[in-house]
Amino acid sequence: MIIDGKKVAIQLRNQIKAQLAQFSDIQITLATVLVGENPASKLYVGMKHREAHAAGIHSKHITLQQDIDQQSLEAEIEKLASDDSVNGILVQLPLPKHIDKDRILAKIPAEKDVDGLTEVNMGRLVQGQNQLVPCTPLGVMRLIEAYNIPTRGKTAVVVGRSSLVGLPQMLLLSAHGADATVTLAHSRSENLVEICQRADILVSAVGSAGMITAAHVKPGAMVFDVGVTRTAAGILGDVDFAAVEKIAGGVTPMPAGTGPMTVACLLENTVKAARLQGILPI
Ligand code: NAP
Repeated sequence: MIIDGKKVAIQLRNQIKAQLAQFSDIQITLATVLVGENPASKLYVGMKHREAHAAGIHSKHITLQQDIDQQSLEAEIEKLASDDSVNGILVQLPLPKHIDKDRILAKIPAEKDVDGLTEVNMGRLVQGQNQLVPCTPLGVMRLIEAYNIPTRGKTAVVVGRSSLVGLPQMLLLSAHGADATVTLAHSRSENLVEICQRADILVSAVGSAGMITAAHVKPGAMVFDVGVTRTAAGILGDVDFAAVEKIAGGVTPMPAGTGPMTVACLLENTVKAARLQGILPI
């Protein structure tokens, strides 16, 4: 089975559009901040704006020079933070090396943090009070729900431990309600093949093309490919799709798998942010 992220993302976007249509007098706005000219980042931001508009969410975009200093960038975020017409703030990552990312994220108020990356929202996630959680792992959870994939008591393996994807994915899969037993693997993990072979649900968020082979996959397992490697031939995932498809119970393609879900969950988070701010009725 192909786990069709594109299809589920469109369904989610249409649900959001229908919800917002009930409040046509209320304007919800997502602000994005892009520093520099990274082509992939530009592409992602463009996609986020297109999808926001398609869902009935307004958006504003700020592009800043690659050499902007820390203080000026913080000032830009502070402006958005205090702007009542802005409901969600997304700072497109990665930021240039001379910028302290954590200090930038700290300027985003928790209730406008649609990427779920601030310390407050990360802390809430650890405590099991999910408010705004990172979009990519949330997207995987939405795919699991859409395909009725059982998680309770199942064994899940997440490969990659970043605060953007792997770590929150582990927390979401092991949270009360999802109830999976989760192993978090990373570059220092020994015997990765054996670890992955135990997984009923396998999520790979590394960025190493084709590293998850048929040998890593238990027959019937559900496999979610998050990793992205850009090559001249196009975008490749962590999963050797052709080989894994034959053995897995389900697998997300790359592209058209977890990527569209990340964008759809950004829209979901923007609406949730507006609710948390009391702009939309709870
Ligand atoms: P990251 O911060 O670079 O983290 C990569 C993780 O992979 C690290 O935890 C690293 O371990 C681990 N790793 C590296 N080599 C490994 C190996 N050989 N075996 C096992 N684990 C290994 O990246 P990220 O921000 O989490 O993103 C991960 C990938 O997902 C990237 O390709 C990114 O482009 C992609 N991505 C996709 C989406 C989407 O919507 N599909 C969204 C966001 C990101 P250590 O911690 O030990 O270094």
